[in-house]
Amino acid sequence: MSDEALRRELAEVARALHARGWVANHDGNVSVRLDGGGFLATPTAVSKADVHPEMLVVLDADGKVVGGTRKVFSEFSLHLAVFRARPDVRWVVHAHPPTATGWAVAGRSFFDPPFMSEPVVSLGARVPVVPFLAPGASAAPVGDAFAEVDAALLGGHGALTCGSSAELAVLRMELLEHLARIALVAHQLGGARALDPSHVETLLEARAKAGLGPARPDSGAASVPAGPRPDIAALIRDALGRV
Ligand SMILES: [Zn+2]
Repeated sequence: MSDEALRRELAEVARALHARGWVANHDGNVSVRLDGGGFLATPTAVSKADVHPEMLVVLDADGKVVGGTRKVFSEFSLHLAVFRARPDVRWVVHAHPPTATGWAVAGRSFFDPPFMSEPVVSLGARVPVVPFLAPGASAAPVGDAFAEVDAALLGGHGALTCGSSAELAVLRMELLEHLARIALVAHQLGGARALDPSHVETLLEARAKAGLGPARPDSGAASVPAGPRPDIAALIRDALGRV
């Protein structure tokens, strides 16, 4: 993809965060890993509704600004922690979707243990809550959280998702917020019932087989950087049919 096309795609993702109601004011940020090892990111102090390709910031592999006329957002260290923990990740998206963020500020995960099959394949075995990180604190807990999962809540803050493509990272944010709403309803009805742990194991095998989540050299399926989305419903039917 050309630099210009990538810039356009990143600006489109930023505007989508605002259009979906997942950010307000200057909240939210998006970054993408460049082929040369650096990154392209949204600038700080701008509404995500107003992000345009020419205002993006270029960073080197250490997260130092090397291009553009604006400042990068202060949360870039969180993105960098995900990129370093996960060589398969190309896109990182941060937003404050209201329901998922409600759980995050309550310091509670809504998906640990998991209660539905498809999100285990798409996101991982659980959605962890990273304890609140004060400004300037080490982002290492974020890298640790993303070692096995593609979405996490940031305590007292918001949500973070990643993907091998912009589409996957945004769909994961959408799924996270949707799941948060389902969990809230289930909570009012007495709580969701956890999946059987043996089903979760089988679903994680399907996740690895689909090339989702961290690349596992021993899984027999290399990470799939881009291309058509795997048929998750078929993978789940196949996986659970064998339990
Ligand atoms: Zn934030």
